[in-house]
Amino acid sequence: MLALLKEEIGPACDRCKLRGLGRKQVVFGVGNPDADLMFVGEAPGADEDEQGEPFVGRAGQLLTKIIEAIGLTRGDVYIANVIKCRPPGNRNPEPDEVETCQPFLFRQIDAVKPKVIVALGKFAAQSLLQTTDPITRLRGREFKYRGATLIPTFHPAYLLRNPASKREVWEDMKKVRAILGGG
Ligand code: URA
Repeated sequence: MLALLKEEIGPACDRCKLRGLGRKQVVFGVGNPDADLMFVGEAPGADEDEQGEPFVGRAGQLLTKIIEAIGLTRGDVYIANVIKCRPPGNRNPEPDEVETCQPFLFRQIDAVKPKVIVALGKFAAQSLLQTTDPITRLRGREFKYRGATLIPTFHPAYLLRNPASKREVWEDMKKVRAILGGG
């Protein structure tokens, strides 16, 4: 199902204006198509645009450590972004880009059917939950979302700038582990 969806999007997607704004490739998603745990970020950055895989830059390396801290590997989970193409200069995705691309994320979620979705950062949490509440208000809470439990947490790029917030992310990840049945 994910493979078909990837094919449907296609390598030369031109459904939104990012095609003409310098993106190198569509960054679809990666990981276990049957994952119990799914991470959703914002949009590919330069490294992801280069390599065609989400979360492979510095923030991605921290995400890998976070995944390993709860006894899993990147291959156990599924990782995707709200939008699949890099916005120029890493600006925030614009509403028309989200509106065009987000349905593909919904279909990824419905295909993987994870038990838990971790929304990484303000942008992913607000987009998925359709709210303008700040991440500081959203994190620490659990939401029911498309058959999963959605847990908003801080984005790993934010943690690189604010390492003190790793403590809260660790609290969130312990909750994830408990829901997944790992203790
Ligand atoms: N930040 C994101 O939100 N997604 C990525 O894939 C990389 C960095």
